[in-house]
Amino acid sequence: MENIQHKVVIITGASSGIGEATAKLLAEKGAKVVLAARREERLHAIVNEIKASGGEAFAVKADVVSAEDMQNVVKLALGEYGRIDVWVNNAGIMPSSRMNELRVEEWDQMIDVNIKGVLYSIAAVLPVMREQESGHIINLSSTSGYQVSPTSAVYAATKFAVRAISEGLRLEESATSGIRSTLIAPGLTKTELFDSITSPEVQAMANQISGMGISPNGIARAIAFAINEPDDTLISEIMVRPTAL
Ligand code: NDP
Repeated sequence: MENIQHKVVIITGASSGIGEATAKLLAEKGAKVVLAARREERLHAIVNEIKASGGEAFAVKADVVSAEDMQNVVKLALGEYGRIDVWVNNAGIMPSSRMNELRVEEWDQMIDVNIKGVLYSIAAVLPVMREQESGHIINLSSTSGYQVSPTSAVYAATKFAVRAISEGLRLEESATSGIRSTLIAPGLTKTELFDSITSPEVQAMANQISGMGISPNGIARAIAFAINEPDDTLISEIMVRPTAL
């Protein structure tokens, strides 16, 4: 039996892209999936699709910027399934721009969603996993969590931060409480992430390369691999790049 089967998995940002692909793949492999994001209608459509294929899932409308919403996701998941085995910190935005454009509001949004969202999620689920003496937290960084390029400074800063948080969590938890922490670092992936770009310069750059991205299914497979490893095996980092870039 695969280690994924019957696991209760929560995925933030499951209404599109990598989160949606991951929810569908994990449900296909027998996980019970909780899909969280703000666009409720899209979540319900995906849940219906999963159920129609024989999978088990439910949707929770939640904003990762709200610590209360994250607590509520935990409460609902525990109410439905009694435990939480895996939490995938996937929700993210990328309104990239040059620093001198001073898009301070977008810097705030990226810091809120990409960093605080991960921290609020950890704050909600870590006590539950410690109580269970098991669990797995998967954090979506990026190749931008390793390398900065012009226009990516703030987004990259958030993804460097996710890397630090994931590694810190692993160092503190794995040996003591058995909770696994995995960093997933995708390269360019064909999703709606680029829709959040408002800088015309970055939009033009994104339009040139977006077709070269990989399918979100490629990232979903990496996440499934990390979850499926036996409990004594911790996949700490996986980077997945498009062959063409
Ligand atoms: P998408 O835009 O398709 O998905 C992002 C998801 O995040 C959506 O489901 C969105 O749902 C959710 N989201 C955004 N803000 C919030 C919020 N405040 N609260 C809850 N959910 C939120 O992009 P991807 O699938 O590409 O992105 C997934 C992750 O992968 C991100 O962390 C991204 O940084 C990372 N990544 C993506 C790469 C790529 O090239 N696509 C490369 C490297 C990393 P909703 O709007 O309904 O809330």
